[in-house]
Amino acid sequence: AELDTLDIIVLAAILLGTVAYFTKGKLWGVTKDPYASSLANANGAKAGKTRNLIEKMDESGKNCIIFYGSQTGTAEDYASRLAKEGKSRFGLETMVADLEDYDYENLDSVPSGKVVIFVLATYGEGEPTDNAVDFYEFITGDTPTFTEDSDPPLANLNFVAFGLGNNTYEHYNSMVRNVTKALEKLGAHRIGEAGEGDDGAGTMEEDFLAWKDPMWKALQEKMGLEEREAVYEPVFGIVERDGLTKDSPEVYLGEPNKMHLDGSPKGPFNAHNPYIAPISKSYELFSVKDRNCLHMEVDVSGSNLSYQTGDHIAVWPTNPGEEVDRFLDVLGLTGKRNTVISVKALEPTAKVPFPTPTTYDAVVRYHMEICSPVSRQFLATLAAFAPDEETKTEMAKLGGDKDYFHQKVNVHHLNIARVLQTVGKGKKWTNVPFSALIEGVTKLQPRYYSISSSSLEHPKVISITAVVESQHLPGREDPFKGVATNYLLALKEKQNGDPSPTPFGLSYEITGPRNRYDGIHVPVHVRHSNFKLPSDPTKPIILVGPGTGVAPFRGFVRERVKQAQNGETVGKTILFFGCRKRSEDFLYEKEWEEAKKVLGDNFELVVAFSREGAKKVYVQHLLKQRAEEINDLLLKKAYFYVCGDAANMAREVNTVLGQILAEKRGISDSKAEEIVKNMRAANQYQEDVW
Ligand code: FAD
Repeated sequence: AELDTLDIIVLAAILLGTVAYFTKGKLWGVTKDPYASSLANANGAKAGKTRNLIEKMDESGKNCIIFYGSQTGTAEDYASRLAKEGKSRFGLETMVADLEDYDYENLDSVPSGKVVIFVLATYGEGEPTDNAVDFYEFITGDTPTFTEDSDPPLANLNFVAFGLGNNTYEHYNSMVRNVTKALEKLGAHRIGEAGEGDDGAGTMEEDFLAWKDPMWKALQEKMGLEEREAVYEPVFGIVERDGLTKDSPEVYLGEPNKMHLDGSPKGPFNAHNPYIAPISKSYELFSVKDRNCLHMEVDVSGSNLSYQTGDHIAVWPTNPGEEVDRFLDVLGLTGKRNTVISVKALEPTAKVPFPTPTTYDAVVRYHMEICSPVSRQFLATLAAFAPDEETKTEMAKLGGDKDYFHQKVNVHHLNIARVLQTVGKGKKWTNVPFSALIEGVTKLQPRYYSISSSSLEHPKVISITAVVESQHLPGREDPFKGVATNYLLALKEKQNGDPSPTPFGLSYEITGPRNRYDGIHVPVHVRHSNFKLPSDPTKPIILVGPGTGVAPFRGFVRERVKQAQNGETVGKTILFFGCRKRSEDFLYEKEWEEAKKVLGDNFELVVAFSREGAKKVYVQHLLKQRAEEINDLLLKKAYFYVCGDAANMAREVNTVLGQILAEKRGISDSKAEEIVKNMRAANQYQEDVW
């Protein structure tokens, strides 16, 4: 088998037609292991790479660059998919690029025979994703300065744009809208419509699929492209390394980078480099059997990590063993799970998304989002590798028929391995190239949690309040389980010596690669947010946080308690919380009583129980009941905060607040809405919603 794969790689290298492939990629030359990927060098990986996009496209012979602004990986995934499709259907020479890796002054020098595609997610309150901040500021700035002096500056630039947004947010898809507007103002030519995917309506994937066909058509016309029979070309070469075993010191078993592999992780700890933090304490917050909510305290005193009340902590999960086994099994890889492989990009602009050499097991367990919803397009791609004709036909049907796909796959929350099992009726999918899986399955993403501790009280201990995702779905025997929250549940069970209620919980490899997470550790990093208490503690605050939306408010209230204990004057704090029943899921009930003892009348908790009386009561109902007081507090420049469910609650609270202002101030609805808008603009109304 080794010869075959090696042959393919050599062949591919020749096909790519450059000896430079081996000489230019200097990384291959200098690292000890000729197969080690550049990712292994963690932060050093980007050193020495050009930030000049023209130079990059020229040296790699590309005529289509696809930039992504991505926070959770979806935009990046869509960018890769466009790159593949552009290449296989139209022979475009595509490359995918992280917006953060390039400069933009020479966008005006992109020749008109090339095309730039932007795939841009909008984050939070209409903000750019972290990796798109610089680009966004540059392009929407008052006078972006370009290299040449032409007028309009971007007259030669042809671009395509797709946005990922959520209509439940105020600034729906504002990134793609604003960037498109800015580019057009600078004279650039948009090809096709600027697409908009809507996560709020749950139609992101279908919006993307519906957008891209007319876009390709428009691009085809503009660039005179010929459509050809789509051929699959692997992006990555996989070489099995007979000389190495999973115990060889240079083999990555899930370590995120070289420092972790060497056992000496150092800061800065960030989205590329997690801190393996000890969990100092973990316990259950609900008192019912079938629902779980965790309180977990993570000790970051051994690191230089810091946080402020209101920030987010990212948890790096691993996949449950059950699903790892299912995935390896259906692909016929179980026997090879510990085989060491090196993965190499077959073209210079592709990046291997994990460090190698590694094992199949480690890739699937630590780096692939194998439990996530599978895309219809990916099923269509995999049809070509089906074990027999019947399976192939069924896969093609799932890939091509939106309604059929919805009914067979979506409603049951099936992940890729479950689809392959069902469609293949138990046959193994041994023809699927592993490269196709690396390309088609997104990178396993860290999950964010609103920090529920106060940095004033505990600067080095970060707490998480997370509800464990477990859903019973019709037509499915086992419940659907969330990846990260069940991983955290398993950690909590281990720490407390609880018996695991499900085999699922037992199956996580919670001691981590080489047992380095043993003694109950979890990989984390901190993300700073704008969700912050007023700098003046005497300002009143109104907090609306039902369910786990109360997380950051636990931090806020504890901070005010600490301030009061330090002798500071603190303003009124009124917290609207909601849950089902006092006896089941009343989060932190005792802690609020403690806070009340310190803050007295300056702290008030208002609780909506949705399943106690005959009528369901939610936080927005109670807000209405307190209309008078809320209006008064707002007139005293109170800050208003909402956290939790973006789809319904946050939007309704926004509406209710407008109604309160209209009623109490005797103004029109539209005037009231304008006031709420202005409050948002002035940071007097802040949201932390997901
Ligand atoms: P996942 O495995 O990621 O699944 C999550 C959901 O994705 C599922 O419910 C389902 O709807 C969908 N899904 C996954 N797989 C499939 C499939 N195969 N088919 C169809 N649908 C699928 N949560 C908290 O509990 N507390 C907090 O304080 C908190 N703060 C947050 C702050 C921010 C800024 C953000 C962005 C999110 C926050 N969250 C919080 C949510 C949290 O990040 C996670 O999304 C949540 O815990 C679920 O993660 P999981 O890995 O367990 O579930």
